Amino acid sequence: MKFLMRLSFCLTLVVLAVSCNDAEAINDNEQRSQSDELMSGDNEFVESLTEEYDLIWTWEGDFTAEEQEKLKTWITEVNEATACTLGPYQFDVYVNFIRSDSKNRPVPFGFASRKGGINQVNLYVNPTESPEELMGDWTAQHEFSHLSIPYLGSKHKWFSEGFATFLSRQTMMDQGLFSQSEFDSLYHSRITEAKECYNSTTKTFIEVSDSLMQNYGYSDMYWGSSTFLFTLDKRLRQEKSMRFVDIMKIYQLKYRSGDKALRDVIGSFDKAIGEPWCIDLMAIYRNQPSAVVMENY
Ligand SMILES: [Zn+2]
Repeated sequence: MKFLMRLSFCLTLVVLAVSCNDAEAINDNEQRSQSDELMSGDNEFVESLTEEYDLIWTWEGDFTAEEQEKLKTWITEVNEATACTLGPYQFDVYVNFIRSDSKNRPVPFGFASRKGGINQVNLYVNPTESPEELMGDWTAQHEFSHLSIPYLGSKHKWFSEGFATFLSRQTMMDQGLFSQSEFDSLYHSRITEAKECYNSTTKTFIEVSDSLMQNYGYSDMYWGSSTFLFTLDKRLRQEKSMRFVDIMKIYQLKYRSGDKALRDVIGSFDKAIGEPWCIDLMAIYRNQPSAVVMENY
């Protein structure tokens, strides 16, 4: 019942996102036709939303039955929250738990994979932690966010990590784990730290990101790269009264299954927005010195 109520809430959100897109497109023929296209064939649209996709569980290491139930409850909630924020995934998600005895964090490590068309989240987890501790950790939301786009290859790690860093916190914000102002304040303090690494006047943003990754500067690279989506989100909020996650809801339904590479994803985001904002922003990240990209932060 809880799942159905949540699904119904998500359906309302998706329809609202589509309606919002439609309303913003009154003076924009291109976007209008996209929205019309999205709304055409209503039966097919609703069917694809209500078709059930499963979470499929696997375990590495010893977990008691009670621990397994606790972890399943936690991840079921993360999955539903992700569906509400980014749109319901149109595929099964495989969840692999690997037992960890880490005392530092409930989920010390995780990674997502999409090998052979299997969308999988792998989580190293200490199952003795409380449900509250598990929910307060960002790793699961981060790995679930990765699955919302195809695997882009190690060359574009800066984009996919910045993407998951931004969207995991958007999901957590929608879960009520922190507010928009708390998100903004966390975001600005992390970006201020990362900015010091991005002060080059000769290397591009992407070159600096790659070099940070090679030197284990993961946190600075993840947060620095999240500026790409933050910039888009800010512009959407200001000019179209939308959030970037509204674009993701359209993306899940229309483009996720067909896209293969970063250029496809960027093109699809622009189609969903109805403006060439992503491709224009990508040109800046590719060609401008990192200090120029970061100067407004
Ligand atoms: Zn990641």
